[in-house]
Parts: sequence; structure tokens; C-alpha cells
Amino acid sequence: MRYLQADKVFNGRSLLDGSTVLIIGDKGELIEISDDGLVPSDKIEKLEGVITPGFVNTHCHTELSHLKNKIPQKTGLPGFGKQIIFQRATANREEIKEKLLAADHAMWNNGIVAVGDICNTADSFEMKTNSKIVYHSFIELLGLHPEKAALSYEAGMLLYDQLKKHGLRGSLTPHAPYSTSFKLIQKIAEFNIENNFPASIHNQESEEETKFFYGEKNGFQELYELLQMDLSWFKAPMKSSLEYFIPSLSDQQTILVHNTFTSKEDIATASSKNIFWCFCPSANIYIEDCLPDFNLFKSEKDKVCLGTDSLASNTELSIINEANYLLKSGVFTLEEVLRSATSIPAKALNLSNIFGTFINGKNTGLNLLELNNNNINFIKNLS
Ligand SMILES: [Zn+2]
Repeated sequence: MRYLQADKVFNGRSLLDGSTVLIIGDKGELIEISDDGLVPSDKIEKLEGVITPGFVNTHCHTELSHLKNKIPQKTGLPGFGKQIIFQRATANREEIKEKLLAADHAMWNNGIVAVGDICNTADSFEMKTNSKIVYHSFIELLGLHPEKAALSYEAGMLLYDQLKKHGLRGSLTPHAPYSTSFKLIQKIAEFNIENNFPASIHNQESEEETKFFYGEKNGFQELYELLQMDLSWFKAPMKSSLEYFIPSLSDQQTILVHNTFTSKEDIATASSKNIFWCFCPSANIYIEDCLPDFNLFKSEKDKVCLGTDSLASNTELSIINEANYLLKSGVFTLEEVLRSATSIPAKALNLSNIFGTFINGKNTGLNLLELNNNNINFIKNLS
């Protein structure tokens, strides 16, 4: 049994004062949140900093971990996409495996206990079955031509079945509105609603996406040519991508990822649905050299979560690195930022019953942080 005390305890929702003592069992499970007046003082381990539950990484692509430092920075999304397609086609199987394991260990050491992870292949499944981290795997589907919806859905279900055979949790998810037809997004939504599964979609990561939906010349054209995609059938909807795909969603939880070019009007449109806004600021800097306008999301603070994205577009898989962008924006309070790293993403991934807050009888992870000049430093994983 451990009795942990720090300058502050963040319980996943709010900061508790320094008299708080966490009583932790031998398996890392919470026995009780107590007070130093009620616990023998010689048993208390006093720590400097803030204790929090384990972090939840809302958005990652662990299967791209072998692409660390291989893709040039600040090329814009279409250029980045082209590189991903080329580099994945020439990747070494052993290296993929090795880097997946390294990414998993690094996330654990960075205090991450749960991850929403995008999968285009089964590459990460074996790693996940042996991991200390709980993964929700989003089987990602693509197909812009509406006639390809059934084929793409079938391929996704085959991968989903493989995931289930590994005993892993997951759901289906569309890639992005510029790569997935309205019909396919709707089909995925139906499957997820039936099963009460969350979904995610890359949303407004690049200005090129907006141009595409307004029928303007855009950077994706070259990418589509490379993929030999015929787009002669496509009629630009003359509205933002978010306005376009939002009606295809029903009431199930959907995580909108990136939101770098999301407008005030888009946020109002999305308010009719059960959505979460996931920010991956380091990846936005890496790919587009641009950040979302966080001011627009102040009113959405209870739906904001954080993701690292992949090592193809980030130098480290650290939720605290991402949290510091939110904190330094000056838009969100420390408590709001810490919630976006713990309880809110746990809710977004349907994992609130096991992660995101301190829960009696559960090991939800224990992290130690310190706050220095409006900067959060991750000290260590205490669990
Ligand atoms: Zn992504």
C-alpha cells in the first residue's frame, strides 16, 4: 500500500489541495482519496509537483512509427500524404515491428495509459495484445467514389474481424472527407451506432481541403493523379467539408481530429452532433506550420482532447508536449488543459469506466508533473 501526497492532486476533473492523500493498493489500484489528517504521517510519500491519472492519447498512428524523421517538415498536407504513400510502400517489415514496440514503450514511459490508434493494416495488432497500454483501434476506411463504398466497407470489416480475433477493442472510422465518400461515412456511422462505438475523422487539417470542397484549384489534385483516381464525377458541394459530412453522422461519438482550418460557423454546425475536438498541435506545426485558432474553441472546452498523431509527423509521442500548446495559447486554464489529457479523451474513446479520473478499485495510471513558468513538465510515470 502506498500513501501519495504532492503539492496538488488533479483527479481528472479538478485540482485538489495539498492535504489530499492517494491511497494506492499493491496492484496500483486506488483504494481511497483521503486527507493527511486521516493517514499516519510516517507512511506518507511526499512528492513535489502535481499527481494526475494516466494520460489518454486520443489520436495516434502507431503503425507509422518507422517513419520518424523520414518525411520532410512543413510541406503541407498533400505533399506529406504523397510521402506517406511512397515510404509505406518501401518499408521494411522488421523495422515496422521494432518501431511499433519502441513507440508503445515510449508512450507508456510518457505516462500514456490509453490510445485511440488509427489502423490501415494489421501491423500493430500483435504489439497491442502484449502492451500495458489499452488501445482503441480505429480501422480506417478510404474511398472517395460512392460506388466504392461497399468494397471499402468489406475490406474494413475483414480487418476489423482480425482485430477481434486478437481480442482487441476497436471500431470503423472514415479517413477524411476528401478521401471518403458521404455514402461510406454514413455506412461506417451506421455500424458504429449499432455497436455504440466511437468514430473519428481527420477534419480540416489543411486549407486545401476547404478549397477542394469549394471547387477551387487545390493541392490534392496532384495526389489524386498519383493514385490514378478519376475525379471527373466529383461535383464540389460548395460548402465546407465539415458542413458537408456532418449530416452523415448520427448520435454516436465522433472525434474530429486536427481542426486547424475550422471556422466559427463550422463549430456551430457541429454542435448538433455528439462530437469531440481533438488537437494534435505538434503535427500541425510539422506538416502545415500552422495551429488551429484555439480562441474559437473556448466554449467547447468540455469536448477538447489531445492527440500526438504519428511519429511520421511528430518527433515524440508525448501528450504533455501537446498540452503545452493549449496552455500557452492562454485560452484554457490549467485544469481545462489537464482534462483534455485525461477525462475528456477517456469519454471520447468510451473508456471513462477505466481511465481518465481516479476510480476506486481501478488502476487508472499515476503521473507526476511539475508546473514551471506556464509550462508543464512531465516528471515520471508513478505506476
Ligand atoms: Zn491522423
